[in-house]
Amino acid sequence: MNLKNLVRENILNLSPYSTARDEEWKSDELEIFLDANENPYDSDYNRYPDPHQTALKEAIAKLKKISSDKIFLGNGSDEAIDIIMRTFCEPGRDKIVTMKPSYAMYRTVAVINNIECREVALDDKFRLCSESVLREADKDVKMIILCSPNNPTGNLMSRREVEKIIEGFNGIVVIDEAFIDFADDEGFLSSLDTYPNLIILQTFSKSLGMASLRIGMAFASQGIIDYLNRVKLPYNMSGVSQSIAFEQIMLHLDSKKKELDEIKLQRDYLIKEMKKLPYIRYVYPSDSNFILIKTLFARDLYKDLIIERGMIVRDKSNVFGCEDTLRITVGTPEQNSLLIQLMKDYEKLTVC
Ligand SMILES: *Cc1c(COP(=O)(O)O)cnc(C)c1O
Repeated sequence: MNLKNLVRENILNLSPYSTARDEEWKSDELEIFLDANENPYDSDYNRYPDPHQTALKEAIAKLKKISSDKIFLGNGSDEAIDIIMRTFCEPGRDKIVTMKPSYAMYRTVAVINNIECREVALDDKFRLCSESVLREADKDVKMIILCSPNNPTGNLMSRREVEKIIEGFNGIVVIDEAFIDFADDEGFLSSLDTYPNLIILQTFSKSLGMASLRIGMAFASQGIIDYLNRVKLPYNMSGVSQSIAFEQIMLHLDSKKKELDEIKLQRDYLIKEMKKLPYIRYVYPSDSNFILIKTLFARDLYKDLIIERGMIVRDKSNVFGCEDTLRITVGTPEQNSLLIQLMKDYEKLTVC
């Protein structure tokens, strides 16, 4: 694979963004900043943030055991998806392939960028078939986006099928691992050196508990990361987000780990209890922090949960392959037992 043949021509010739501070940013003597038209009176917020997010990337590098020049940070992984697509896909010409059902944002970003999005159906158990994906990936397809564990189905994709796709495709493969921490699987991070065409997405929004900060991570070869950095806007992540995320990683990782373990236990509890309810037709296995259920009266149950307790779940019935389903996020132990109680109460109201 030659990276230069995959990157859009206008991006190949783009020079990386640099500020007057880049050259001497690290010099201790330099402390009077009259270069960026900021308000000179010091507060926590008067200076532009580090456009390279150096400190945060170093913390992430340690956490993920990966070198920091293989990390790209976006304003949420949604921004990373957009930047990846704009780096590689020529609007009106190139195409991408995704799975269906999967995360809706891939198609949305493709449509916004005028890139055709071909969707390959998962099977009735939401399994990935590498052959069907590769069959769609003809010469105009620049990128394949997989999601594992998948949203909204919750399951991890077969490692072998994913490998066949990465090995059999002459373009970029993105694996969105937003939920990988909830799975008993290490994901593909340690395979980056094996696969130069691979980009892995992870996020601060789910297991790390920082959705509000809007921080998404892309991991790839240094060559790919360099191009993504050219395309991003210089100050895409606020200084406040950078410093809070840094502090959370440094000081609060142990409590995040405990929360993660509790969520996994609670997921198993919810699955076990939901399987006892006769009106629930199928509880899909989950490698994530949510559960997809196929149920009688899906819309009615959805409304009942909102009206009775203000408990909001997601109705996925309109999504391909997900007719009559609700997607329910694992909550705290109290929230989960209340949910189960409400679902039992609902059973009494229905004639099954
Ligand atoms: C939640 C989620 C994301 C994360 O998006 P952010 O912009 O980082 O909050 C990415 N992909 C999938 C599949 C998700 O469910």
